[in-house]
Amino acid sequence: MNTTLNFVKTVCPYCGCGCGIVAHTSGGRVTITPDRNHPVNAGKLCIKGRYLNQLLEALKERPKSPLLRRGGGFVEINWRRAAEILAEELKNHSFGFVSSAKCTNEENYLMQKLCRLLGSNNIDHCARLCHAPTVSALSRSLGSGAMTNPLDDIAEVETVFVIGSNAFEQHPLVATRILRARDRGANVIVADPRRTITARNSDIHLQIYPGTNVALLNAMAKVIVDRGLYDRDFLRERVSGFEEFLSFVSSLSVEELSRVCGVKSSEIERAAELVSRRTAFVYCMGLTQFSSGTDGVTALANVALLTGNVGREGCGIFPLRGQNNVQGACDMGALPEFFPGYARVSENVERFEELWNARLSRERGLSLPEMFDSDEVEAMYIMGENPAISEANCSRVKRKLENLNFLAVQDVFFTETAEHADLFIPVASWAEKDGTFTNTERRVQRIRKFLNSGFPSDLEFLSEVSGFLGFNFPSTPREVFSEIERAVRQYRGLGELLYGEVRESNGEAGETFWGGKVLHSERFSTPDGKARLFAVSYKDPAEKPDSSYPFLLTTGRVAFHFHTGTMSRKCRALTQEVNSTFVEISRRDAERLGIREGEMVRVVTRRGEIEARAVIGDIKEGVLFVPFHFSENPANALTSDVLDPLSKIPELKVCAARIETERGVKVKPVEVPAEGE
Ligand code: SF4
Repeated sequence: MNTTLNFVKTVCPYCGCGCGIVAHTSGGRVTITPDRNHPVNAGKLCIKGRYLNQLLEALKERPKSPLLRRGGGFVEINWRRAAEILAEELKNHSFGFVSSAKCTNEENYLMQKLCRLLGSNNIDHCARLCHAPTVSALSRSLGSGAMTNPLDDIAEVETVFVIGSNAFEQHPLVATRILRARDRGANVIVADPRRTITARNSDIHLQIYPGTNVALLNAMAKVIVDRGLYDRDFLRERVSGFEEFLSFVSSLSVEELSRVCGVKSSEIERAAELVSRRTAFVYCMGLTQFSSGTDGVTALANVALLTGNVGREGCGIFPLRGQNNVQGACDMGALPEFFPGYARVSENVERFEELWNARLSRERGLSLPEMFDSDEVEAMYIMGENPAISEANCSRVKRKLENLNFLAVQDVFFTETAEHADLFIPVASWAEKDGTFTNTERRVQRIRKFLNSGFPSDLEFLSEVSGFLGFNFPSTPREVFSEIERAVRQYRGLGELLYGEVRESNGEAGETFWGGKVLHSERFSTPDGKARLFAVSYKDPAEKPDSSYPFLLTTGRVAFHFHTGTMSRKCRALTQEVNSTFVEISRRDAERLGIREGEMVRVVTRRGEIEARAVIGDIKEGVLFVPFHFSENPANALTSDVLDPLSKIPELKVCAARIETERGVKVKPVEVPAEGE
């Protein structure tokens, strides 16, 4: 028996925290432990990270070769034939490409390049469903859509303002920084309709109605201005638009906005006072997944700029990215409106035509939700995403998948989306390939292969497809990264740090920030070097409660699962904790409707209905919560696909709903006042 002990340092494949792990191989067995020396997690892992071994076990369940649909079933083919078929279909159809926040930077770079060399900008990925508003809003306000400071700065602040994030469950290694700040005496404020574990660890819980973030943040801006709590020097030297902003806030009423968001004026005033100190503004999809998502992030940036909390150490704006490499997939240009490095398609075609020696489309491509709506899209090539579960109003998406002329799905596991595929291509997992991921704080990190499976990586398969289309793509991650350095200004000079000999010889994951640790420390990345305040007025969500649908439904995640569960639902230890859809309802609503804990109920919206177990929780009255991880009774059968006009994110976090039980329809009117009422 081979007893040689081998270890490889790499990165957890789940969330955007990007925790370091060590894979030990001995006698053919692999054990995963946390990396004690890693700057993000310093020897800690959350529950998902602790059961990575079960995820490795699940790899045995993968189909062993590509599957081609024939008649009512699939036949096995080899990868070369799969690449040839896919190339042929791409030549013959107008298509949409879906790239992946689970894949490496190098793979995302090649995916978008292939799409663009074929003459289309129809390339997108799941950032559309999480942080597209961050990119559109922060690019406009600050010149860059990225987290401004390293996560460690959260531990240094006087106030942590968390809005729309349950970091204690979804980004536990961010939560450790929040706790450290609190232990040092910082005040923690959490704005969330649910009294989550994050809210329970706060000093002030602003229990807002879903969809009213702009009202809350504008009210805070009004208090900051009226009480002179703003940073005059910072605004004079580094920010434009202050005069116009003053006239905008003069028209606002804190009392009115307080009624809209359901938070007392006194709490809003206290929160405004506290964020005028050195503050970390932490947010996630509870700020972005709205038809007003871009306005929500803009309103938050306004408060951060007014209080001088950007461009300095020990404060900042912290958008928490969901998937492990959603930051990197955006950096690599897996977006219909941007080439790599956030180079706007309309302004940078010539540069990329020269770099790639090709003629490129000048038109902005279709976003992910638009692809599912468009008759122009006849074929789709989906890499490492599961839109059959993750997209808003997913029944509509499944119909589109069924009606495509050709659908190729490339993934580690056979997903719910793969069930609709004409061609399924199984590929290597994160454990079986090399490359880089960029975590939520812009830390670019090496991932390293520690298992040999014989499955091609996404990168290798993309190179093979490109060969059939007449392109000659680099075929190793190192070669691709060299090209990334030429294409992406922010990544220049990182290749040697990440792939250089020293890193290779000591097996370290390697890590380096793009843009330096603190962004905007001298100038903002805007044409005049200044940040800008934008007046954004509160707008109601697309659906409000009425007599037929008297509740507001919001969706989210639980600690034990990740995204659409394609990985976490494979781990026994995690499914033993939670394995099915539930609906959380407030105690008073449950009592009024006679709903008991654990009872099966139906949740119904204008788009569909699901069955779910009732969980009585500490959630705002009139609001329901359903997690979106599960394939049976998926939450997204209910959600609204109305889009934010600027970022094109669907309004996943709020729609009107009702609850029904076997004992009859339950309708309870709830009053959610609108602005001005
Ligand atoms: Fe760290 Fe996120 Fe992995 Fe948990 S899921 S171990 S917080 S990277």
